[in-house]
Amino acid sequence: MNDIKPAGLHHVTAIAADPQQNVDFYTRVLGLRLIKQTVNFDAPDTYHLYYGDTTGSPSTILTFFPWKGVPRGRNGAGLTTATAFSVPPASIGWWQKRLASLPVDADAPVDRDGTEVLTLRDPHGLVIDLVASPGDTRSGWDGAAGVPDEHAVRGLHSVTLSETQLEPTQRVLSELLGMSMTDEGGDRARFAMQDGGAGALVDVAAETGGPGRQAGGTVHHVAFRAPDTQTQLQWRQQLLAAGVRVTEVIDRQYFTAIYFREPGGVLFEIATDQPGFAIDEPLLALGRELKLPPWLEPDREQIARALPTLQVPADDRGAGA
Ligand code: ZN
Repeated sequence: MNDIKPAGLHHVTAIAADPQQNVDFYTRVLGLRLIKQTVNFDAPDTYHLYYGDTTGSPSTILTFFPWKGVPRGRNGAGLTTATAFSVPPASIGWWQKRLASLPVDADAPVDRDGTEVLTLRDPHGLVIDLVASPGDTRSGWDGAAGVPDEHAVRGLHSVTLSETQLEPTQRVLSELLGMSMTDEGGDRARFAMQDGGAGALVDVAAETGGPGRQAGGTVHHVAFRAPDTQTQLQWRQQLLAAGVRVTEVIDRQYFTAIYFREPGGVLFEIATDQPGFAIDEPLLALGRELKLPPWLEPDREQIARALPTLQVPADDRGAGA
């Protein structure tokens, strides 16, 4: 029997170019908290930067592999082509004004099926949607300079997968991952995990413009939430039994992970809620120093020397704590 039921999105991981531009944009412009500075465990000569709410709660997290000089990718079929964050409905106008006052590539808000959506692109071209979400009770990060608490980004809202065919992806989302299709119309279908609130939604959009190219400014993978490692192991067995090629369980220090590709080509991950980001530094000090997993710690000096120095914002609540 298949009972894989992710509780929502865990994180989205994307590819950036210059790491400092990445930090500046997500902390100072979008007002997310830099919750972890570590390296790509599979390629420790590059950073892995995590952003989220105050504690790095699952379903608030966006992470980046910044590869200096990486060519710009291209959104298209087989990629996650938009990452949406939730903001209070009354805040869309505030964000529109804020983004217009900064050198940010942002569109005017549009009405998408009765919901206001403001689309912007980060300095490396990654598409971010700010979605008006009534009833999202998450508080986001209240320590960002320039973003009052009432307008703070609350956490992930949804992702958009662009696909040439709906059915194969739909089967995986509904039959294997326990999501329900709540809306289908025009060129989009919406899938909900659990209660289907902000942070528990996947949109599939019809793509007719050809395949995407994964590189700078595109999403690398989307991760869904498993409550614990035991459940994750059971889910892995069920995926294997359904003929899905899924990886071993991989230790990502802040969670454990399994990966597989959906039929349209998007890389999926299932990540555990535990142990979380306070496992190797105090909550007040999240993201301020380079953290390495135990197995890379012996190489710290060499790793740190190869990485560009990062200026992290000193104007948030973690400063000096
Ligand atoms: Zn991941």
